[in-house]
Amino acid sequence: MPGGKGLNQAITAARQGAPVAMVGCVGDDPAGRLLTTVLSAEGVDTAGLHVVRGVPSGTALITVARDGANGRLRPGDVEAASSLTPTVAAVLAQLEIPLNAVRAALTLAHASGAIAVLNPAPATGSLPDQLLALADVVVPNESEARALSGRPTSAGAATWLLKHGCRSVIVTLGEQGALLARQHEPIVEVAAFKVEAVDTTAAGDAFCGTLVASLSAGEDLLAAAQRASAAGALATTVMGALPSLPTTAEVDRLLATYALKRSRTTLPRRSWRSRGKP
Ligand code: ADP
Repeated sequence: MPGGKGLNQAITAARQGAPVAMVGCVGDDPAGRLLTTVLSAEGVDTAGLHVVRGVPSGTALITVARDGANGRLRPGDVEAASSLTPTVAAVLAQLEIPLNAVRAALTLAHASGAIAVLNPAPATGSLPDQLLALADVVVPNESEARALSGRPTSAGAATWLLKHGCRSVIVTLGEQGALLARQHEPIVEVAAFKVEAVDTTAAGDAFCGTLVASLSAGEDLLAAAQRASAAGALATTVMGALPSLPTTAEVDRLLATYALKRSRTTLPRRSWRSRGKP
């Protein structure tokens, strides 16, 4: 099955209507060709996707061993890709590539004024403060937040991450939604959407891809996180990864259903505070 965090997140952003380019490495094997074809079919620009000869494409097993083709992505590949796609609104990076390639991507985003989002997954421990400071938004799930910070609670982890360089942090909390923490502002809850979950695979990827597509479209961070939460919820309602990544119309529909329900009931209003850039 085609997958991988970067691929899932890129395809979600594309399904949310954003023009997307993917930077990474695949092997010169059938899996690598399949990954490239799937991305192209979804309208993702694959000019920055490198084929590494004699190395298998990352699979779940090989990625655990840190030995897949994506482990060969070099900072130079990222820099070369940035010249292929000169007008980039946002960069979304994960940790399935070497840390120096992540650093190159975030640095380039930073330098060009693009929004830089880091999904620190998989996370096995802390990251350098300077790396965290390069991202406008860092989006770990609960266990990644714990691994990065050593703090047992999500709020504690978010506060720790803000003290260690992050400008904003969104900790995703599965069926509890997410929490959004920003410098000098109280932590805000991002509402969860009640759905019939059948398979939570790729919920986080749907969240990240939608977050970045919404930020690129000019939404503020809280509104983008709300859309992302709807996308994450939708991803749990379908088996598998790719088939479950929602389109922007599906997200709109879920948001509209909720707006309707909320206006009919007396649910307490949340204290949305977000305005301006993340
Ligand atoms: P990951 O897949 O990376 O572990 P999460 O499980 O936290 O990430 O899911 C990402 C987002 O998807 C959550 O923040 C939430 O908005 C949404 N989500 C996940 N599971 C559910 C669920 N069972 N019901 C509703 N929303 C969910």
